[in-house]
Amino acid sequence: MTIRVWDYLPEYHDERADILAAVARVFESGQLILGPGVAGFEVEFAAYHGVRHCAGVDNGTNAIKLALQALGVGPGDEVITVANTAAPTVVAIDGTGAKPVFVDVREDDFLMDTDQVAAAIGPRTRALLPVHLYGQCVDMAPLHRLAARHGLSVLEDCAQAHGARHHDQLAGTMGDAAAFSFYPTKVLGAYGDGGAVLTSDENIDQNVRRLRYYGMEDRYYVAQTPGHNSRLDELQAEILRGKLRRLDTYIARRRAVARRYTEALGDLAEPGGLVLPTVAPGNEHVYYLYVVRHPRRDEIIERLRAYDIALNISYPWPVHTMTGFAHLRYAKGALPATERLAGEVFSLPMYPMLSPDRQQAVIRALRDVLTGF
Ligand SMILES: *Cc1c(COP(=O)(O)O)cnc(C)c1O
Repeated sequence: MTIRVWDYLPEYHDERADILAAVARVFESGQLILGPGVAGFEVEFAAYHGVRHCAGVDNGTNAIKLALQALGVGPGDEVITVANTAAPTVVAIDGTGAKPVFVDVREDDFLMDTDQVAAAIGPRTRALLPVHLYGQCVDMAPLHRLAARHGLSVLEDCAQAHGARHHDQLAGTMGDAAAFSFYPTKVLGAYGDGGAVLTSDENIDQNVRRLRYYGMEDRYYVAQTPGHNSRLDELQAEILRGKLRRLDTYIARRRAVARRYTEALGDLAEPGGLVLPTVAPGNEHVYYLYVVRHPRRDEIIERLRAYDIALNISYPWPVHTMTGFAHLRYAKGALPATERLAGEVFSLPMYPMLSPDRQQAVIRALRDVLTGF
C-alpha cells in the first residue's frame, strides 16, 4: 500500500460521527449561506487567537486578496513578500492589481530574510506580507519596526501556521490582519475550501465583510467598491467549529511525528547531505510540513518510489521563475537561496494520524536509500 505524504481518511474515520452531525445540523438549520455556522466559527476562531474580529471567506487565496484590499492595497502599489511560498500568496497580490516584490529567504529555516526588506521598500510599497512557512513564524520585530517607520501595513500569511507561536504570540495576532486557509491539508483543514481574515481593527473587518459579499453593506446595494462573492461555506464552517476544538491535539500529534523523524534520522544529518528542519529562536513549530533538504533530492524521491512511498516537494518552482509571473521581470539567479532550496527540499509524510508503523516504514526506506549512496 502506498504511503502518502498526506491522508485525511484515518482522521475522518476517527471523527466521522462529529463530521456527519455537523453536516446534518447545517442541513436542518434552514440557513445555508452565512448562517449560524459561519457566525459561530468566526467568534470561536477569533477567541482562540484573542483577537477582536474574524471574517470567514471562501479560501486562503481570497483571504489574502480581500485582506490586502481591505488594507487599501490596489493597482500601483507594491507588496513585499517571498518567492519561496505557495504560488497563491503571489496570485492573491497580483489579484489586487498590486505588484509583488520579493526578498530572499534564510537558508537555515527557509523563512523571509527580514534583513533584506529595508532595501526592497520604495515609494510605492504599501504592505509587508510575511509567510509563516511550513508551520513556523517569520521574525516579526524587524518587520514591525520597518512598518512603523515607513507607514506600511503588515499582513501575515498564516495558511501554514495555525496555532504556531512566536515569542509566545500566536500566528495571526502579530500584524494589522492575518489570512488563513482551511484547505484540507492545512493544520486546521476543512472538508473542502475555506479561509478567514483575522484582525483587531473594526474597519478592516468591516471592509472584508463587505468585499466578501459583492461589496454590499446592505442587501442588494453596492455603495462603495464592487467586491466579490467570497463567503465561507456554512457546511465547512460547522465542520471547522468541531475541528477547532481539536486543533491543539492535532498540533501535539504533528509534533510527535516530527520528534520521531528527528530522533530516527538525526545521525544521518550532515552539512551538504541530509538537513533536517530547524526551529528559529522563539518559535513553536506546528509542522504543517516536515521539510528536509538533500542535494540528491530527485534521486532520493525516485528510489523511494520502489518502496511505495510518495513524497512531495514544497515547492519545486520558485514563484519568480514561473512563466506566469514573467511580467514581474525577475531574472533567474535573483533570489539565490530560494532557487537553491527549490532544487533540494522535499517533504516527508506528515499528518496527525500518521501511524507509527507507517512512519517507521518511511524512516527505514529513507535510511536504506541514504546509506546506499
Ligand atoms: C495554501 C496556501 C495558500 C492558499 O490557500 P487556499 O485556501 O488554497 O486558497 C496561501 N498561502 C500559503 C502559504 C498556502 O500554503
